[in-house]
Amino acid sequence: RVRVRFAPSPTGALHIGGVRTALYNYLFARKNGGDFILRIEDTDQNRKMPGAEEYIKESLQWLGLEPDEGPDKGGPFGPYRQSERKELYGQFAQLLLDEGYAYIAFDTAEELSEIRKSYESRKITFKYDATVRHRLNNSLNLSSAEVEHKINEGAPYVIRMLVPEDEEVTFFDAVRDRVTFDTNELDDKVILKADGWPTYHLANIVDDYHMKISHVIRGEEWVSSTAHHVLLYQMLGWEDHIPEFVHLPLILKPGGGGKLSKRDGAKQNIPVFPLQWNDPDTGAVFQGFREEGFLPEATINFLALLGWSPGNDREIFNMEELTHAFMLSQIIKGGARFDLDKARWFNQQYLIHADVEELLPYIKTQFPEMYGLADPEYLAQVVPLFLERIHVLPELSDQASYFFTEWPDYDEKQIKKRYKEENQELYLTLFDDIKNAQPFDRSTLKSIVEEFVATQSTKYGVVLPILRLAVAGVLQGPDLFAMMEVIGKEKVNNRLNKALE
Ligand code: GLU
Repeated sequence: RVRVRFAPSPTGALHIGGVRTALYNYLFARKNGGDFILRIEDTDQNRKMPGAEEYIKESLQWLGLEPDEGPDKGGPFGPYRQSERKELYGQFAQLLLDEGYAYIAFDTAEELSEIRKSYESRKITFKYDATVRHRLNNSLNLSSAEVEHKINEGAPYVIRMLVPEDEEVTFFDAVRDRVTFDTNELDDKVILKADGWPTYHLANIVDDYHMKISHVIRGEEWVSSTAHHVLLYQMLGWEDHIPEFVHLPLILKPGGGGKLSKRDGAKQNIPVFPLQWNDPDTGAVFQGFREEGFLPEATINFLALLGWSPGNDREIFNMEELTHAFMLSQIIKGGARFDLDKARWFNQQYLIHADVEELLPYIKTQFPEMYGLADPEYLAQVVPLFLERIHVLPELSDQASYFFTEWPDYDEKQIKKRYKEENQELYLTLFDDIKNAQPFDRSTLKSIVEEFVATQSTKYGVVLPILRLAVAGVLQGPDLFAMMEVIGKEKVNNRLNKALE
């Protein structure tokens, strides 16, 4: 059975790269009738950040990526928060020790930094490997009596995995095919820390095994850890349960030059988080896709294509269509460039086809200020006029302001440019015709103007800009006649009267 997990560490806000990982896991589970599990990897006591777990859950909920099993939902393989599984990891660290696959290391920070320095001075990259482990105080070099004595004395220690020398570790990756590492390249990773908590590596493997995970879909930065993980599976006798690995390509900065980072978000005004995030450490506020006015469906569609290609030109996919189309074999290998304009384009496509009945409740919860601009029926008439003209919802408040005020803000420059003294009579006649429109709707208004242009043998270009400037104050906007209908006879007439004063 396909069982996949999204396993974020609550050390900060979920980056959109993380959201994409969650999405691909979700799609793969849905496609194969499998399970999508949320596991909170919170064993790093120093890096745990208050609010981060809630943020992760809220993000998944906003995007409709509801887990089948998880800390809130429960499930047969819980608990799903690693901090509640501490004992289990301790047992397996002990087992690895007992079997000789791990050792107790007493090395202090000073000792390590001294060795590190000597490496650096010789321009060798430091790696905690066979050569290093032989020079330090650990259960490989000390007698068991000495080890016991040190422990009883209260000397701090960690447990490290004993990486074998001169071997090869190979695993299968759906994106990279066979990946092989020489064990001499690998360090003796700490698996249990001095505070008794496991590291990511141990906890991750123990849980993937116990939660019967079939496929590990995660970011590319974990490829090299996978070699350690495969070794751990072998050491624990779980080699028949090694999942299939799928390492997703990096999401790159828009302008090139590496991985999209949190700082790019602030610097280039790119939302790199799904929801707004107030960083408790720095006090910085990062914008989120949600607050920027992106619809969850559009965000999903955009992220789906950031690292996966359906093999044709098609771009618009709702969640169900993605579920059908998604295939691991179509995940791209190279980095995927983040393109905000593309994200905005996707959002526009979703806005154009949005159902106002569905959009209004969304505006109500997401943009209460916008929602409060007018009563809902009026809003329901204004919003559709703008859906083709905006990329994200907040643009509506700016572009449509004259729908909600008594008087528009007049673009004096355009008025000066377009208003011609000698046409004053013409404007007056047209405005009078419009004021008498019966009924005051778009088609009537349109035929009035058509007739006017014909009988007065004038041009649209002569009268329409003035009419629009009189009603809206600006030249850009939606269909003029629809706009006037929605603004309504009374207000339009007031504006026309005022314009001619
Ligand atoms: N806790 C890891 C992270 O934050 C999980 C990586 C994995 O999926 O194995 O990315």
